[in-house]
Amino acid sequence: MDRIGYDCLVIGAGVVGSLIARALSRYRLRVLLLDKASDVGEGTTKANTAIVHAGYDAKPGSLKAKLNVAGNRLFDQLCTELDVEFDRCGTYVVGLSPEDWATLQELHQRGLDNGVTGLSLLDANEMRRREPAITDKTVGALHAATGGIVDPFGLCIGAAESAVLNGVELALETEVTDLLREGKRIVGVVTNRGEFRSRWVILAAGLWADDLLHKAGMDGFHITPRKGEYFVLDKVAADLVHHVLFPCPTPISKGILVTRTIHGNVMLGPNATDTPSKEDLSTTATGLNEVMAGALRLVSALDPRTVIRTFAGLRATGSTGDFLIEIPQGLSGLLVLAGIESPGLTAAPAIAEYIVEMLREAGLHLVERPDYNPLRVGIPRFSRLSRTEQEALIAQDPRYAHVVCRCETVNEGEIVAACHAPIPARTYDALKRRTRVGTGRCQGAFDTPLVIQIMARELGLSPLEVTKKGGRSRFLLRETKEVGT
Ligand SMILES: Cc1cc2nc3c(=O)[nH]c(=O)nc-3n(C[C@H](O)[C@H](O)[C@H](O)COP(=O)(O)OP(=O)(O)OC[C@H]3O[C@@H](n4cnc5c(N)ncnc54)[C@H](O)[C@@H]3O)c2cc1C
Repeated sequence: MDRIGYDCLVIGAGVVGSLIARALSRYRLRVLLLDKASDVGEGTTKANTAIVHAGYDAKPGSLKAKLNVAGNRLFDQLCTELDVEFDRCGTYVVGLSPEDWATLQELHQRGLDNGVTGLSLLDANEMRRREPAITDKTVGALHAATGGIVDPFGLCIGAAESAVLNGVELALETEVTDLLREGKRIVGVVTNRGEFRSRWVILAAGLWADDLLHKAGMDGFHITPRKGEYFVLDKVAADLVHHVLFPCPTPISKGILVTRTIHGNVMLGPNATDTPSKEDLSTTATGLNEVMAGALRLVSALDPRTVIRTFAGLRATGSTGDFLIEIPQGLSGLLVLAGIESPGLTAAPAIAEYIVEMLREAGLHLVERPDYNPLRVGIPRFSRLSRTEQEALIAQDPRYAHVVCRCETVNEGEIVAACHAPIPARTYDALKRRTRVGTGRCQGAFDTPLVIQIMARELGLSPLEVTKKGGRSRFLLRETKEVGT
């Protein structure tokens, strides 16, 4: 890393920062992407509902509305280029009372105002035909054919890897503690690893954006962390839910939904509770009870005994109600993104394009690189391959025949590939997000010791040094007997 001169320095390797870095890597620029965490996508990007929203929800004329609809349209091409799982399966807002029917009509109109295509209102019979387990209280639904589900970790990792393959420098475990200022210009950042200078500093720090804004002397914008809690159900529940099922929205959230995930589970949540802490990802009995009650209102046959995991995410709810994306007046060299709450995942690809255009307009000279390659290939997803493809892979490398995680049928070959990817999985959680190891019914109960042993071997670490998510999150305190392979 060069501490002297970058053209652009992006703070935050969440889905937004990673896609911005990738969009910039198309040009002859020196770009540095920084994150304080041990992996990309460790912030809000790792814990959300993973819906690619159609765009009927946001207020017409807002940046949220504009960038949601534009972002949604980019997903097919982007996910193909980045080898990321995405299913434009359509979403439904389900009405449960006559008053809800009026809300569905309002949402329909708002969607039309926002330029959303593929919207239709369905009566109760049609909704039941499409989703037989839906509550018999339904009065109808708003169907959004352009809505979908995506692998949010995969998208972030894919974007960051594509950026790195196209020349972006990535610095993890690098925390920005201050901004370097010369008069009315931001000229770089101060981090725990020293100072980095850059012509442009792009602030994409999610929940922490306001803290960094305050360091730049901008005090007017505040982020309130708003927690959302979830259940993940075992794949045995998958037969019950085929689509994304929202209730009618509340004033502060899109409501507690029931959805299938891109990986074939069923997910319930989130609720919405303001919290003072930007680090508090705990789940609570009260919150989870609220989530289960909300989900059962939509699909009463859900069985709480099929829950395999709970988790929580924190929305970066901004004080203006809209995304804040601007070059602050009177301060050059800084481009701010703040309050990027939902639909931030959906909007992220359009946000990245928007940022490039803002920088161009602000005078950044953008010359396309002839060797830019938009394609990135992820590690093999063995269980998704055809029999012939699987046999070919095993013939190349017999470790693809050694199943390590039985629930998700992840094999040693995939773990090895993830440990040597362009952005290697250096922690257990990073490996989990890349391979799905430990995400199934047993939640790693059977395979974690073997996974640690393989990771240690591949990363040249002692098993004692393998952590869950960096820092002091070690699994083992002392040597244990070797696990048989
Ligand atoms: C409960 C919930 C449900 C949601 N559901 C959806 C959905 O279904 N669809 C949708 O479109 N959107 C959804 N969202 C919103 C979406 O997840 C976010 O908008 C998106 O992930 C934001 O990405 P980001 O890159 O801005 O932030 P983050 O992913 O939080 O990334 C910011 C990064 O900045 C880093 N960072 C912060 N401070 C510093 C510092 N000082 N130095 C270095 N690095 C720093 C962090 O480590 C982090 O990695 C949901 C959000 C939540 C919480």
